[in-house]
Amino acid sequence: MRLSRFFIPILKENPKEAEIVSHRLMLRAGMIRQQSQGIYSWLPLGKKVLDKVNNIIREEQNRAGAIELSMPTLQSAELWQESGRYDAYGKEMLRIKDRQDRPMLYGPTNEEMITDIFRSSVKSYKDLPLNLYHIQLKFRDEIRPRFGTMRSREFMMKDAYSFDLTREGAEHSYNKMFTAYLRTFDRLGLRAIPMRADTGPIGGNLSHEFIILADTGESEVFCHKDFVNFDIPVENTDFDSVDGLKSIFDKWTSLYAATSEMHDEAAFNAIPEGERLSARGIEVGHIFYFGTKYSEPMGAKVQGPDGKEHFVHMGSYGIGPTRLVPAIIEASHDENGIIWPESVAPFDVVVINMKAGDEACDGTCELIYAALTKAGKDVLYDDTDDRAGTKFATADLIGVPYQIIAGPRAVANGEVEVKDRKTGARETMTIEAAINRFVA
Ligand code: ATP
Ligand code: MG
Repeated sequence: MRLSRFFIPILKENPKEAEIVSHRLMLRAGMIRQQSQGIYSWLPLGKKVLDKVNNIIREEQNRAGAIELSMPTLQSAELWQESGRYDAYGKEMLRIKDRQDRPMLYGPTNEEMITDIFRSSVKSYKDLPLNLYHIQLKFRDEIRPRFGTMRSREFMMKDAYSFDLTREGAEHSYNKMFTAYLRTFDRLGLRAIPMRADTGPIGGNLSHEFIILADTGESEVFCHKDFVNFDIPVENTDFDSVDGLKSIFDKWTSLYAATSEMHDEAAFNAIPEGERLSARGIEVGHIFYFGTKYSEPMGAKVQGPDGKEHFVHMGSYGIGPTRLVPAIIEASHDENGIIWPESVAPFDVVVINMKAGDEACDGTCELIYAALTKAGKDVLYDDTDDRAGTKFATADLIGVPYQIIAGPRAVANGEVEVKDRKTGARETMTIEAAINRFVA
């Protein structure tokens, strides 16, 4: 992508409305634009990062055996009347009427709709276990939307829903998602701590929130300080192994039993004072097992091996991609801007032409741009005639992990500079070496 032809409305000034660094940097880097309170457009740079986040989430969901579909944002009120949540949900739900005066709503979550899909076609235990997910916009009329897309009214969620014949089966489904979440957040460059949680209005009795430590977070974390150091399950984890996944899960529930209670002050006080961690964090994921809470009122049942009908045991599993993007920035930035982990960076590398219009600089940059693009790299080429200082500031602000800098003096020697955005380290090397560095 040539910067001269890209759409990236960089802000020079710090936007006044932004209270936290991620919101400030997302606005300054031209990633998002607020359209009305708590409702955002994702501009091209932001969209590229969001897509990469979603793809990692998708890969890990698929690896764990979940199957993707897509459900609508608008739902009929009838479904929610069946479950009893239509009246219970309160003002966070945006209620709408269509032209026939039928009550509709913009979905804040999809338990009812997925249960309806399930009951319409699954009749036998032989079709279980089943886990269906989508990555879709949600709307919650939050009382206090703030911090940009961190807490917005319209936001994106990956929500998965599992169906099992028995509680034991449902626990295995839960452990699959638990394991997939540990892997997902790790691939996003984040340490998300799974904390036992209240089940809240969704109900049920087994639940974890995944929290990233950050001073600006809206959640409280009380745990043992060693709790933040943990092993991440490997890529070839066997998701069908009941014992294998249980042992991953049990590491938390036994080893850290009393120390991972979000809301249990007594358990926290039992930890020796010097070993306590009391901090703030950002909730980026939340998983629930809630048994037959929806399947009973909505009549979602299957025939079991005993020939009898059984209400299915369900769980739901949410991750917020539009919250994760600012959460990643909160965890990874410096005074010059964003520092993207390579896995979600909008571009792999930016080629900076220090003297656009100079034949040697242009030729060198075009050569590198073409070679890296051909090798499948996502390259941003700063071919603008901005001043060098502006180019460096832009590259640092938007946080591309590597910069290849082509200035007249180096180019005359057949060389360029490669800068690592994270460490700031710069290295001069031949043009060929610079290409090989990213291609090899
Ligand atoms: P919170 O306590 O922050 O309001 P929640 O408990 O209401 O979150 P869930 O219903 O568990 O959230 O939704 C699953 C995930 O969706 C959350 O972990 C979060 O990542 C994301 N999410 C929820 N509400 C918002 C929001 N208003 N803006 C952005 N992301 C959100
Ligand atoms: Mg909420």
